[in-house]
Amino acid sequence: MSQINRNFLEKEVLQGCIKVVSFDAEGTLVKPGFSQAVWHEAIPALYAQKKGIELAQAKEIVAMEYDRIGDQRLEWYDINFWFRYLHLGAPEPVIQSCQDKLFYYPEVTEVLSSLANQYKLIIASGTPLELLRCLLRDVRRYFAQIFSSVSHYKQLKTPAFYLQMCQTMNVEPSQVVHVGDNWQFDFLNPKQVGINAFHIDRAGNDYQESISNLTELKSYLLA
Ligand SMILES: [Mg+2]
Repeated sequence: MSQINRNFLEKEVLQGCIKVVSFDAEGTLVKPGFSQAVWHEAIPALYAQKKGIELAQAKEIVAMEYDRIGDQRLEWYDINFWFRYLHLGAPEPVIQSCQDKLFYYPEVTEVLSSLANQYKLIIASGTPLELLRCLLRDVRRYFAQIFSSVSHYKQLKTPAFYLQMCQTMNVEPSQVVHVGDNWQFDFLNPKQVGINAFHIDRAGNDYQESISNLTELKSYLLA
């Protein structure tokens, strides 16, 4: 556990004041395989079919288009935007075709079911609802509320998004713990408004500032 977190997240203090535990979805609960399949396999395959070109060429073109928009822009996350932009029709069949690639990290169900007894659990994700509903397929019952920054607030996971989320739930940022795998969107931005943020590093780089799985988070939140 990080020095940074330890400084302001003493275990007893944390347990006493926290009401809500907020989770990012992709890379935090859900392994990257599903998104990889949607964005880098199924969409290029459909594009190749529509344009009558080779799959390899379609992958290159689509990846270039993703890069051109970039992950700091809202459109990058918006599957409806991409289907319009690339003239691919409706996204539903593509999303459905990737369902068998959906896997959770091993500790997820156990941690969620333990924490759900004591805290209100929510999702704070930058993934649009169309995809988020699929991502949460097997764990939806643990969450009292789902916040998609893109679908509900038309923004990335900015400090303003986190504040609005707290206002909607009628809690102070200091009563919320958030965990996620993106340093900016899941750690720096929520921290900026006073949320107790944890960065999760699934790659196991053993950064001082990060936790490596959700069991570590659980040990902070349960006596
Ligand atoms: Mg993530």
